[in-house]
Amino acid sequence: MNKKGRAFIVSGPSGAGKSTVLGEVFRRYSNYHFSVSATTRAPRPGERDGVEYFFITQGQFDEMVEKGQFLEHARYAKCSYGTPRGPVEEKLAEGVDVFLDIEIQGARQIKAAMPEAISIFIAPPSLETLEARLRGRATDSEEKIRLRLETARNELAEAVHYDHVVVNDDYKRAAGEILDIINNAL
Ligand code: ADP
Ligand code: 5GP
Repeated sequence: MNKKGRAFIVSGPSGAGKSTVLGEVFRRYSNYHFSVSATTRAPRPGERDGVEYFFITQGQFDEMVEKGQFLEHARYAKCSYGTPRGPVEEKLAEGVDVFLDIEIQGARQIKAAMPEAISIFIAPPSLETLEARLRGRATDSEEKIRLRLETARNELAEAVHYDHVVVNDDYKRAAGEILDIINNAL
């Protein structure tokens, strides 16, 4: 039988640099599948349906929940987010490593269902840096930025529950640290 793939959970406050760091990891590691989540939030400029997210309505989301089509799901910043179950299970069975960029409630659900999953928390060097990055990204309204910063304070306290904490000071260095984790994980 083929060796199963491993599940890597990546969490961290919005703006900490998860997409940026994972993008660099994927340039240097190819046996991966990035789990595309479903969300009810509106696409940001440049985001494509089915690539960054599946952008769906709350009605469609609730229907998927009812049908058991999510591996986990949660509310975050007044929107719903969920991991479609099918692709994750297929890829793991094929021996491909699966990366889930999800927030902490979802991470807890995955850890409960799959204790062997490896959790990585990406932290910003400081809250000031986080705020600067959120503003620099210029994709969220002032209200959204405030809400995300408030949430971030609570999220940072959760870092201790993760298997690994990686500080995103320099994104290439942070990606290197994650590659070490991938290479050393069972
Ligand atoms: P997340 O996916 O965690 O919400 P992003 O990857 O979108 O965060 O990063 C938020 C912003 O910070 C982006 O504008 C990105 O270019 C910038 N950024 C990410 N990592 C770094 C870094 N190490 N140094 C400086 N800016 C960064
Ligand atoms: P954003 O709106 O900035 O893309 O994401 C907001 C938060 O939702 C981030 O912390 C991100 O990791 C998380 N997230 C994205 N997809 C999912 C998902 O499928 N499930 C859960 N629980 N969180 C998700």
